[in-house]
Amino acid sequence: MATRDYYEILGVKRDASADELKKAFRQLARKYHPDLNKGSKEAEEKFKEINEAYQVLSDPQKKAQYDQGGHIEFGPGDTSGYRPPSYEDLFRDYGLGDIFNAFSGGSRTTRQRAGADLRYDIEVTLADAFSGTKNTVAVPHDSVCSTCHGTGAEPGYLRDCPTCRGTGEIRSPQKVGNRKVMSIAQCPDCGGSGKIIEKPCRTCHGAGSLQKTRRIEVTIPRGVEDGQFLRIAGEGEPGENRGPPGDLYVVVHIKKHEVFERQGADLTTTAVVGLATALLGGEITVPTITGSASLKIHRGTQSHTLFRLRGQGLPFLNADKRGDLLVKVIVKIPATLTKKQEELMKEAFVGGPAG
Ligand SMILES: [Zn+2]
Ligand SMILES: [Zn+2]
Repeated sequence: MATRDYYEILGVKRDASADELKKAFRQLARKYHPDLNKGSKEAEEKFKEINEAYQVLSDPQKKAQYDQGGHIEFGPGDTSGYRPPSYEDLFRDYGLGDIFNAFSGGSRTTRQRAGADLRYDIEVTLADAFSGTKNTVAVPHDSVCSTCHGTGAEPGYLRDCPTCRGTGEIRSPQKVGNRKVMSIAQCPDCGGSGKIIEKPCRTCHGAGSLQKTRRIEVTIPRGVEDGQFLRIAGEGEPGENRGPPGDLYVVVHIKKHEVFERQGADLTTTAVVGLATALLGGEITVPTITGSASLKIHRGTQSHTLFRLRGQGLPFLNADKRGDLLVKVIVKIPATLTKKQEELMKEAFVGGPAG
């Protein structure tokens, strides 16, 4: 049972006229009708809600009861077997006239459907992520066969369906009580297309489309991170019946670098220094993403000390600012000493305060 206000559901004021209610319902029904949102549970729920609200508010008696705060029961109370009214029902029972026409381009109802989204994975280097890059992706897609223009028939071998005389539908008058109703069903012989293929097209073997590859250039921005994606609107699968195409999602993966590891916009690396440099201080050269930089090692540097080179990391996405390069300095202790070195070490350290 809907707990939301019926007026709110239809997006109308409390004093809305019958015409305003009808108009609001019609607009929402167009948007959320399950026939147009195949497989969308959300749309189905939404439509159910809209329909329920309209059923109450369009009935003067129920509306009065609802306005007074009364509770309104629906049918047997169980809505699990709920089936939305078809367009035909809306057309007939709700007196909505043009709702049906709104969807039909001509004599037949052709449903527009958006094309599917496509995903394309690309791998770039860390240097590419640093400077930004352009990449060409080859997207396979269906394109309309140019021999048969999508009909699937060899030119000259497409005939109007004799069963429905090319209309794609079978109309039969029926009587419901005292009313005459025209029942419309899809033609079983041509599947509603109105056409019969006498000989399939040789180019596409009757499919009407061919697989082709489309090359699309994508710009990978500076500072892109692993797993980020670029959405390229309208480059997905084409829609049906002039429905909008889907989108192309290019997912970026960044290759592991030999020297640097990435932490957001910061880079990390390690550098080895000799014992003398660690003890006495000095300068070493460390690799950076653009080349190299010199790093000052202070006197008495302990092994595994982290040095920060500001602004030597990667750029932040869509910004001029750059992260830092963090250098972990490893002090190398000699495994063997010469006789002289050993003597000097003993003299300097053994027995002394540092020994
Ligand atoms: Zn063809
Ligand atoms: Zn037919």
